[in-house]
Amino acid sequence: SKRHGRNHFTLYQDVADEIDNQLLKTELLLKNALQKEELFLAYQPQIDISDYSVYGVEALLRWENEEIGLVPPSHFIPIAEDSGLIIEIGKWVIETACRQLADWKDLRVRDVKMSVNVSTYQFYHIDFIPHLQETIRTTGIDPSQLVLEITESIASNAGTVIDQLKKLKEMKVKVSIDDFGTGYSSLKYLKDFPIDHLKIDKSFVQEIGEDEKSEDIVSSIITLARNLGFQTIAEGAETEQHIQFLKNQKCDLVQGYYFSKPLYSKTFKCWLSNWNI
Ligand code: C2E
Ligand code: CA
Ligand code: CA
Ligand code: CA
Repeated sequence: SKRHGRNHFTLYQDVADEIDNQLLKTELLLKNALQKEELFLAYQPQIDISDYSVYGVEALLRWENEEIGLVPPSHFIPIAEDSGLIIEIGKWVIETACRQLADWKDLRVRDVKMSVNVSTYQFYHIDFIPHLQETIRTTGIDPSQLVLEITESIASNAGTVIDQLKKLKEMKVKVSIDDFGTGYSSLKYLKDFPIDHLKIDKSFVQEIGEDEKSEDIVSSIITLARNLGFQTIAEGAETEQHIQFLKNQKCDLVQGYYFSKPLYSKTFKCWLSNWNI
């Protein structure tokens, strides 16, 4: 047993057990998070860099639990995906984002876009499209104001993905490829995907001014997107230098701390009223 003859193996085993316990505990707390209303969305502005108008926001999921505090999505989304909880949580995210969009009817910016992250598992779930249709109908939003952010891992199911994307296109919902360039990307799929935006991952954007290769990757993605007829969104822009480079390269849309961190719904309205268009 672990009590005697403690060696490296058992020591590591204890550490592994401890990690398992924590994951299980987080999963249990996450299971109750919906009912206990511990989840909320934060909204980060996306700016059209050609005229500094507000294009829209990305909805980013937040979880605040009284026992464990504010948990970052990078920590709990993988747990939600592994446990299947992402289906229920994903539905909540879509419903909440659409309801918010409906509430923003009187906003200073008309036609503001709402981007929502969608996990691959969620995207292929049988209920995904019907639930989305139902939510659009009940909230009465204009579907062309909704943008779904999916990742390149979606392409693992090459046959179904195109059918699914075509259905979204028919529904007038927009689609963006998130974290572009960081996954097992396949340029050959890009050719056949009916999508609207490519989103440049912050790992490239944040090296603008520091790493020439990252700059080359950013400008190449922008050129590639333009040639294929997609708009580009750069995420994670923090400095004047990032902005100037992206503007020079004619990136369409920019999101990052330079403009704003993700904001509570109310704070977003304040931020917007101070934004000079
Ligand atoms: P992502 O989709 O790539 O989202 C962008 C992340 O970059 C967000 O982190 C955002 O807060 C952060 N960010 C934006 N601008 C800057 C900047 O200028 N500097 C820095 N350092 N960071 C910036 P966040 O909110 O922690 O989300 C992390 C990831 O969690 C997201 O990455 C996304 O993959 C996932 N996620 C968030 N909300 C949802 C959701 O509702 N559903 C799903 N499936 N995944 C979500
Ligand atoms: Ca995203
Ligand atoms: Ca990213
Ligand atoms: Ca992502």
